[in-house]
Amino acid sequence: MFNKISLTRFLYVDHGGVVRGKAAATDRLAERVESGIGHTRAMMAMSMVDELAPVEGMGPVGEVRIKPDTSTFVRLPYAPGAAAMLADQVNPDGSAWDGCARSFLKQAIAELAAEGYELQASFEPEFTLGRHEGASLLPIDESLCYSATGFHLAHDYTIDLVDALHQQGLEVEHYYPELGHGQQEVPIRHASALRAADNHVLLRETARAVAIRHGLWASFAAKPLPEQAGNGAHLHASLWAGGSNAFADAAGRYGLSAVGYHFLAGVLAHLPGLVALTCGTVNSYRRLAPQMWSGAFACYGPDNREAAVRICSPIGSLGSVNLELKPIDSTGNPYLALGAFIYAGLDGIRRSLSPGEPVLVDPAVLDQPERDRLSVVRLPASLRAALDALEADSLLMSALGPLRSTAYLAVKRSEVEHFRVNDLEYECRRHWLTF
Ligand code: GLU
Ligand code: MG
Repeated sequence: MFNKISLTRFLYVDHGGVVRGKAAATDRLAERVESGIGHTRAMMAMSMVDELAPVEGMGPVGEVRIKPDTSTFVRLPYAPGAAAMLADQVNPDGSAWDGCARSFLKQAIAELAAEGYELQASFEPEFTLGRHEGASLLPIDESLCYSATGFHLAHDYTIDLVDALHQQGLEVEHYYPELGHGQQEVPIRHASALRAADNHVLLRETARAVAIRHGLWASFAAKPLPEQAGNGAHLHASLWAGGSNAFADAAGRYGLSAVGYHFLAGVLAHLPGLVALTCGTVNSYRRLAPQMWSGAFACYGPDNREAAVRICSPIGSLGSVNLELKPIDSTGNPYLALGAFIYAGLDGIRRSLSPGEPVLVDPAVLDQPERDRLSVVRLPASLRAALDALEADSLLMSALGPLRSTAYLAVKRSEVEHFRVNDLEYECRRHWLTF
């Protein structure tokens, strides 16, 4: 009935973490794929509350084109008559624009390739399923963590969600109702880094759109309901070279190779600044707290779910060894988050950094002398502090480049200020409406 596509959305993610775009009508699609759709540069200075931060080069004057990557074309099962592609933002002459987030990830992937590696990544996104009633988000259930009752209560929605994801080529690994009221988790199978970030955008879009068609609301906000468990999007990652997992080494401690330890050490060294990108909203820091299983301390351990980085024990073959980053949620820009994660790990490889000793207990129970001995640091407790740490991180700042880093800090600092003068209820509402 809806075989005909009338509109194709060209989607990108801005510095506020918001998925935005423009749609091309089918008659003009071929032309627009070539030229991109004209767009103001200012949108990369727009915050998650649609306030324009003052950024030189992102004002009312100046043009970019939203140029789709045709390999990402998908019909949207939840929007009959529509399709979508993930897009870059390019200069009018077609060259890469240094404010484009997706191009940043491509740049990181290219640097990693120059060292002989490819990153495979997957996200484990959690979200709150509820009803959007007046000013409130009411979770669909009060079911218990992984409970069979939770499966029953969300069943019609989750079957439609999984079908819609499969139709877009996303391979669902698992599904389960999680700890918080109405909380759902849908991990997608790992893919190369760019595809993994694109998939994460498609997942966010699909979870919300299918919810709307069920009269429901899906929120990926990190802490939409302050008294409930937060929504993370743990990142699983491994480096591959010559068709095998370069993180796997049967002789390595916990099965992790020397290169894996260097990468891990780079991530830990840059984590205080990195979280400004992986936990990108004011609301993220209500989730990123001790004993929330969100990895609030910069340390690592084998299957330690309170450490910021968990060395995941292999399932099946040794080749499945991977690192899991916990301090990450779905409100950041996934292209910036994954790109910066790569740069941090790459720095560890290039400088042969060591991550020190593993932490084998919940780091929150260690006393300060013990934390000092193990170099365990509490990650920033607010977006404001994380942005300061990012600004002080010369490697991440120079990887981002002057325009992107200036714009990101300006946008996010404007959000810090916006929410500073408002109350908790307002903060949560703006976040669950937006994410
Ligand atoms: N909801 C927890 C978080 O915010 C994660 C729980 C888990 O899956 O381990 O990261
Ligand atoms: Mg989970």
